[in-house]
Amino acid sequence: MAIHILPPQLANQIAAGEVVERPASVVKELVENSLDAGADRIQIDIERGGATLIRIRDNGCGIVKEELALALARHATSKITCLEDLESILSLGFRGEALASISSVSRLTLTSRTAEQKEAWQVYVQGREQQSTIVPASHPVGTTVEVANLFFNTPARRKFLRSDKTEFAHIDEVIRRIALAKSQIAFTLTHNGKIIRQYKSAVEKSQILKRVSAICGEDFVQQALAINWKHDDLHLSGWIAISDCSRSQNELNYCYINGRMVKDKVVTHAIRQACAEHLNTEQSPAFVLFLDLNPNDVDVNVHPTKHEVRFQQARLIHDFIYQGVSNALLSAQQLNFHSYDN
Ligand code: ADP
Ligand code: MG
Repeated sequence: MAIHILPPQLANQIAAGEVVERPASVVKELVENSLDAGADRIQIDIERGGATLIRIRDNGCGIVKEELALALARHATSKITCLEDLESILSLGFRGEALASISSVSRLTLTSRTAEQKEAWQVYVQGREQQSTIVPASHPVGTTVEVANLFFNTPARRKFLRSDKTEFAHIDEVIRRIALAKSQIAFTLTHNGKIIRQYKSAVEKSQILKRVSAICGEDFVQQALAINWKHDDLHLSGWIAISDCSRSQNELNYCYINGRMVKDKVVTHAIRQACAEHLNTEQSPAFVLFLDLNPNDVDVNVHPTKHEVRFQQARLIHDFIYQGVSNALLSAQQLNFHSYDN
């Protein structure tokens, strides 16, 4: 076969393989876009576990009519313009791939209105060349992305979809994790027309704890030690609770770096090491921890899903977290709030 450039739809479908594993990954990407757009209210509507419909509506800044079609193009982003921007990135997105990828494996429509515009516009793309069509629409300031019939044109992926219940459980988990880190944002999640989660905007400490309790359980909040540990521009905050069975081990081990949910070996190892020195073998930690640091000191462009990061100074970060967690566990023991020895 002669060398040829793949048509845009096929190129996007291949790229989609990396970020769009299942409906929950679509939800993650779209909610992150809403957060980057400065929304403080986000509604997530799901039908049939996301297989037939995923609709995310926000009250963020919106997209101007002239840029609507561009938003669906691959490598189109408003979040970076040069490599230096990437080094100090604080937005959740930057690759300019999500909308292009998702629209290549679904029927995607993007409806949006900015504060400056009197009317809203809707765009969708079709076919191998991903031709875009734009029509007038009705929508308040903000954006709605509707993703219908996910994987309708990629049967191999569609085959891997599990039951509606399982797929929805993954979506619920994504929303819970995001809602934990973004307590000031209001979220509503519905499934087949029924409200499943409703998190009101939480600003004060008591409201925030109420949200943590709704997501992580009353027990967690009752038992948890608050962590607030700082050194130079490193800041570790959140909660850690010790339970007497190993059940919670993988269920509630959430860590966030600069507001981004990650699975990081350095962070997890530091927490586990600190816990290992203070806990007996039957006990295990449950935690929700936020590490904030200068974005220059961490590389978030390691994997398309951005679940992994790389630290400039991994050892320093490790020791900082280890000390923060050890300190919290030690002072709790000294104050005799909790006796972890029995
Ligand atoms: P990225 O988030 O990496 O920039 P995406 O493909 O997810 O790439 O989105 C492309 C662009 O479309 C974004 O950079 C942003 O300008 C715009 N966009 C997407 N979703 C929204 C939204 N909900 N509100 C406002 N703008 C959006
Ligand atoms: Mg994005």
